[in-house]
Amino acid sequence: MVQFVDVRHMREWVASEGAEALIRDLVPYLEADFTRWPEFEKIARIASHSPVGVIELMPTADAETYAFKYVNGHPGNPAQGLQTVTAFGVLADVASGYPVLMSEMSILTALRTAATSAMAARHLARPDSRVLALVGAGSQAEFQALGMRAIMGIETVRAWDTDPAALDKLERNAAALGLDLYRASSAADALEGADIVTTCTADKSYATILEDGMVRPGMHLNAIGGDCPGKTELSAAILDRSEIFVEYEPQTRIEGEIQQVEPDHPVTELWRVVAGELRGRTSPDQITLFDSVGFALEDFTALRFVRDRVSGTSYATEIDLIADPGDPKDLFSLVSSQPAIAAAR
Ligand code: NAD
Repeated sequence: MVQFVDVRHMREWVASEGAEALIRDLVPYLEADFTRWPEFEKIARIASHSPVGVIELMPTADAETYAFKYVNGHPGNPAQGLQTVTAFGVLADVASGYPVLMSEMSILTALRTAATSAMAARHLARPDSRVLALVGAGSQAEFQALGMRAIMGIETVRAWDTDPAALDKLERNAAALGLDLYRASSAADALEGADIVTTCTADKSYATILEDGMVRPGMHLNAIGGDCPGKTELSAAILDRSEIFVEYEPQTRIEGEIQQVEPDHPVTELWRVVAGELRGRTSPDQITLFDSVGFALEDFTALRFVRDRVSGTSYATEIDLIADPGDPKDLFSLVSSQPAIAAAR
């Protein structure tokens, strides 16, 4: 039997533990896996593009465990009452090849993306950062704000979205979460006085969500919404002024903000900073940019975290996913007679 965490159980687990506490606990898990980055098998994710979105498979493995995530990105979906991003994933045992855990990952992706943003900020932002500008108030927004509060001690969120209803929703949720929210009138207004800036917009185009003039020395930029070929958020001039950190460089060259610069434009893989090989921020005036696209290793970590936390609890059920005859060479026995099928029920 394969352990199974469906949406209902994921919701119940996150509601009972608290999203902020889970994001905070996920950060050391991510740091542990980023620190042993060379042990992982890595490829850029496999993307199937259409005019309206993308469907992606994100695999990775270490010597013991294999993981993959299925995820989509369809910016037009909310207009039809659907999520921009939905996902599910699997952990498997490398020794037998058998899956051991299957989980919903739409909620889990929001937790892991917030934890990854917070981990990057811990290593790259000024430690005295207290004000977060959030540009894009959709599904990821509350999770991103909670991650920055949990890890960086963010006190104020300055939010902007072109959709007033998304800002209304964020305002309601922020009040319930005790977040001090300022409703900005533009992206430029949101960035006034911000220490950390997270862009989490969805638009399948080379968008300019942040203009060069909005970005001040000392800011840390966390650009998570530009994550596909032809889908970016920052003016290219910002990239020239920033020290750029990425997840897996070959994937980010295809999908990240750095699509806009020359292929040899210098970037640093974040794991080297997390592992202590390289320094992150080197001065208070530096502009640091985490050009996040989302990498398979983060999903491996998130699934590992879920397995460790929910195995043996009522949040994990079982799913009969593996045909497993008593005689491993007699798969046919499972379908050869009605009594055998009835017995299996
Ligand atoms: P969403 O559709 O729920 O929210 C996106 C929001 O952006 C919407 O409210 C929309 O009104 C707003 N927006 C669009 N254009 C804007 C503009 N010009 N200025 C201000 N706001 C604008 O999407 P989501 O699930 O919150 O995801 C946000 C983005 O993050 C998506 O592009 C998604 O692909 C990406 N994402 C990245 C990662 C990662 O690991 N880097 C993980 C998850 C999602």
